[in-house]
Amino acid sequence: MIYADYAATTPVDDEVLALMLPFFSQSFANASSVHTKGRDASSYVENARKIISDIFNCNKNEIYFTSGGTESDNWAIKGYVEENDVKHVITSQIEHHAVLNTCLELEKKGVRVTYLPVDETGLVDLNRLEESICKDTGLISIMTANNEIGTVQDINKIGEIAKKFNIPFHTDAVQAAGNMNIDVKKSNISMMSVSAHKFFGPKGIGVLYVKNGIKIKNMLYGGAQEKDKRPGTVNTPLVVGMVAALKKASDNIFRNNEITRERAEIIKTYVLNNLDNVYVNGNADHKLSGTISMTFKGIQAEGLLVLLDMKGICVSAGAACSAGAVKTSHVIQAINKHNEGGTIRISICHLTTVEEAEQIAENIVEAVRSLRNN
Ligand code: PLP
Repeated sequence: MIYADYAATTPVDDEVLALMLPFFSQSFANASSVHTKGRDASSYVENARKIISDIFNCNKNEIYFTSGGTESDNWAIKGYVEENDVKHVITSQIEHHAVLNTCLELEKKGVRVTYLPVDETGLVDLNRLEESICKDTGLISIMTANNEIGTVQDINKIGEIAKKFNIPFHTDAVQAAGNMNIDVKKSNISMMSVSAHKFFGPKGIGVLYVKNGIKIKNMLYGGAQEKDKRPGTVNTPLVVGMVAALKKASDNIFRNNEITRERAEIIKTYVLNNLDNVYVNGNADHKLSGTISMTFKGIQAEGLLVLLDMKGICVSAGAACSAGAVKTSHVIQAINKHNEGGTIRISICHLTTVEEAEQIAENIVEAVRSLRNN
């Protein structure tokens, strides 16, 4: 099997897993307990918070642990809008459903939402962003990197615009964290969502960074954990795993990206040299190194996925299936480019070997040829 779906999720790194294991059965105490074991657990949790805050250049008390990207996105947007009675939110058409469906829910409650279009490479038009800001605008939520096409937005410029108009800026950095350096101060980010299972950490844990001074409604109501804002016994093993994974990914960003870029080039070059009517989606200059989105004219993504799966290659469609019909994804629709073909996402990483990259490419070419001949 060749796994090329790292944008969907990553395995837990072996070293990370080894660090986590004692926290399930030996150092299992509740981090809120006042006895020695509890205080020990708490010190690991607080140390993790400190390491994460150093990585993103913020204060320790601005890091909240959540159950992952979906919760962080929901909490940031809904929590801020409800607490501050926001009337207008600006986001983009290519956000993850964790953002889009939260916005749809807010629309039902009377909040106006502007979904900014993107250019054919997936970049938000910053002039359109400025033009969309009005006196009611209370929140801008634009993702750092897109999960389907890998396009990375100019978050520094978006942050500057947000600052100029004194509007908080939330960014969904679920695909970006661990793959690129993020400095929340430099980019003027007010809230940021992160998820551990995208950078070789465990599933079910994430972070919401909330800048001091930004007020959001509680996620839940209960005990005093996470400054009363997101109560519930802290999941110490997952926190320990997340921070170890984030630290390892952050320390190796440059090297990992170099390797990944080289492997991605092997795939793209081979496929483009051997097939006509193939389009590589996304922005070549502003993108995640391992996310490759390709549209193949004249075929359907479903068929290609099945053929590749039969060959032992795991990739994803850039499309969602509903009632047996392939629906072009909202991201591919928004870039409005070559969406008459089938789009797949091949997402690789530094663990992808040269041989695997070659096999992925050869199998794609073979499968597309056979589908086009049928
Ligand atoms: N946002 C983006 C951009 C994602 O890619 C994902 C997951 O695929 C999420 C949010 C949701 O994260 P989680 O799976 O941790 O809930």
